[in-house]
Amino acid sequence: MTTVEYPAVPTEDAAAAVDRRERELLAAAQRYSFRGRIDTSAFSGPVFASARGSVVTDLHGNDYLDFNSGQMCAALGHNHPRILAAIQEACATMLHAHSSHFNVKEIELAARLGELLPDPLTRSLFGASGADANELALLLARIYTGGREVFSPHVSYHGLSAGTRSLTFAGWRRSHDPQSGDAHAILAPYCYRCPLAKSFPSCGFACLDASFELVDAQSTGQPAAVITEPLFSAGGVIDPPQGWLARLRDLCHERGMLLVVDDEQTGLGKLGTMFGFIDEDGTEVVPDIVTLAKHLGGGVDLSSVTTTDEIEAKVVDAGLTVTRSHSNDPLPCAAGIASIDIVVEEDVPAKARALGRRLREHLTALGEKFDLIGDIRGRGMLIGIELVRDRDSKEPAYDEGNEIGRRCFEAGLIFSMRRGGSVLRFVPPASTTLSQVDQGMETFAKVLEEVCAGS
Ligand code: PMP
Repeated sequence: MTTVEYPAVPTEDAAAAVDRRERELLAAAQRYSFRGRIDTSAFSGPVFASARGSVVTDLHGNDYLDFNSGQMCAALGHNHPRILAAIQEACATMLHAHSSHFNVKEIELAARLGELLPDPLTRSLFGASGADANELALLLARIYTGGREVFSPHVSYHGLSAGTRSLTFAGWRRSHDPQSGDAHAILAPYCYRCPLAKSFPSCGFACLDASFELVDAQSTGQPAAVITEPLFSAGGVIDPPQGWLARLRDLCHERGMLLVVDDEQTGLGKLGTMFGFIDEDGTEVVPDIVTLAKHLGGGVDLSSVTTTDEIEAKVVDAGLTVTRSHSNDPLPCAAGIASIDIVVEEDVPAKARALGRRLREHLTALGEKFDLIGDIRGRGMLIGIELVRDRDSKEPAYDEGNEIGRRCFEAGLIFSMRRGGSVLRFVPPASTTLSQVDQGMETFAKVLEEVCAGS
């Protein structure tokens, strides 16, 4: 028998196969995916394929240090093993449940949150996204007070659903459907660029006094609430001066309005304290309603609204139904319990403080070298710098910021640009080691130097 010798089939080398796969995926995205995203609308790579801890990896196997914590939801680290174990357990027991009956995981999660939050914030209900929780919080405030009008500082981000986008003043409003007539902006405590050209503390919170003159002038006698982040993240890492939140709460209560704190991005340890409305010295301003989201789900979609017995009783007696098909599902609730366990047992607030300290050390040293850095601010592992062309005029350095962000991304460091590119925001997950912070800052310093040198 003669053996036939077949010519060797030319095999595509592995790198070429990945290139082809990426091209095919991007072509499919171009054909089938919706754009209109927060940071880019381009159909370009990289295409991310996996993640672990503080590193995300693209299809080609390139690693990126993720100082954006995914979309801020991986603040405990991507694919944390305890979150994965909780999800696996839910897969083996119960993924989804009847929303009108209690299930084990949702009760356990509500109890954990109730124990963790300061009194009288004890009663929780769960939503799917951050916007969802803020919509629910505003609904509670309106029913409880009988009012309609809601207000938020002019650098806020509360979500992109209809009601929350009406109160998202940091941007992303163009082409939106008509805004709710009951949603208004008040002045944010943006001290680096004070809208009243005053300075703290001699201003005596003049921004709040001016804001409430506007609140009273615009009101039809039906004010319901102010919703605020305790530190404005998407609006440019703007950290209100101490005492601002307490004064805001007093001004709300004087008018029978509720204070809603949107702690969705800032809660559960990220700012170096358990919640964003608690300062490092322990001073706390307990709101009437608080919302959590982002890393509450440890990487899966989960949000919460927590309020007092009194508010819960009144709105339920008024006949309010809050059910969402998936809101009390065992899977996200199990992830939420694991997330709280991690925050408490791994002391995420302490990790956030350590990461923030190290980041600040690097940024402060760079600020001494480069006049482009006009301001360094933030708390815990949420740190921002504002770039200016001139430290006196404070002309924002939009192009420089966008260029630095683009080059750092190409060099394997992810962070976000806000306020048109003039604010760079660094949010490393709690899994980040100090040497990863150093590594990220080394990349950043190199790119900063190049851009400042015009090369
Ligand atoms: N509130 C804050 C403070 C946020 O940062 C975000 C998301 N960036 C939201 C609300 C909206 O959350 P989601 O996108 O999950 O609706």
